[in-house]
Amino acid sequence: AAKGNGKSQYRFFHARLSERLVTRLTLQAELKRAVENRCLALYYQPRVHAGTGKLTSMEALVRWNHPERGIVPPDAFIPVAEATGLILPIGEQVIDMACRQLAEWQAAGVPVVPVSINVSPYQLEQQQVGAVLAAALQRYGIDAALLEVEVTESATVQQGTNAAGEVAAIKALGVKLYVDDFGTGYSSLSQLKRLDMDGLKVDRAFTGSLTHGASDVSLFRAIVSIGHAIGMTIVAEGVETREQLAILQELGCDEVQGYFISRPVPAADALALFGRRTLFPATPA
Ligand code: C2E
Ligand code: MG
Ligand code: MG
Ligand code: MG
Repeated sequence: AAKGNGKSQYRFFHARLSERLVTRLTLQAELKRAVENRCLALYYQPRVHAGTGKLTSMEALVRWNHPERGIVPPDAFIPVAEATGLILPIGEQVIDMACRQLAEWQAAGVPVVPVSINVSPYQLEQQQVGAVLAAALQRYGIDAALLEVEVTESATVQQGTNAAGEVAAIKALGVKLYVDDFGTGYSSLSQLKRLDMDGLKVDRAFTGSLTHGASDVSLFRAIVSIGHAIGMTIVAEGVETREQLAILQELGCDEVQGYFISRPVPAADALALFGRRTLFPATPA
């Protein structure tokens, strides 16, 4: 009985495994075609001044326009893209689309703010990100001050690597650099200082646990104070409630981003966000 059981278990796992394999291979093939056919698009989420709600930057967040599945979020395909190397053409398209969008917004005459682009550790390691950015800026006649790059902590760790060189190349262009998802990795303060990062985007897990009187408020306060001490702008990610915003204002956090202000929106909808006095929702009566 035990033997039979083992055999059927083996077959069960085998079937499950090949099912997963087929799913992954299908995804890979589809993603490859999507990249070739330029089926990727950028959504934009505003980042605002914590005190006033005035727009300071737009984060570009990639989406896959899938013929059957609709809008596919990045977490569902960036890992596959990294495993297959497709992240390199995707990265180039993202940079191209962001610069083209900036040129369009400028042509529309709205008061533009920088667009912030996500670059994964794999891209920093494998791609001449600095050169790709420089070429795109030139192609669309965009000022480097209108681009920002977000890199996760793990990307910036090793000195002397291609990643560290690319970080320096990006800085040399005059493009600002932000540490994304800060607090989830393991960068030391000396590394942050050495790499001359401009700001910290504190991971939304920290923001999510902010309530008056909670010990996490002290933790966030410490991040703000240390970040400011080494000259960095502090941005809170994932702000979803008025209470979180109020606490962040008390803590002296510089900028905020999150569903409380706006979800990521298509470029056409983002146009309406420029030049507004504030993006904070009106206080309910
Ligand atoms: P991220 O850079 O940390 O981007 C923030 C993510 O949090 C976005 O998810 C955004 O929609 C979501 N978010 C914003 N505000 C809130 C909130 O108040 N509550 C909650 N629960 N979530 C919020 P999204 O667009 O699904 O992107 C996920 C991740 O995919 C990004 O995290 C980034 O690491 C990666 N990603 C996005 N676009 C690109 C890209 O063009 N290239 C690369 N390499 N990675 C990208
Ligand atoms: Mg980001
Ligand atoms: Mg983040
Ligand atoms: Mg992230």
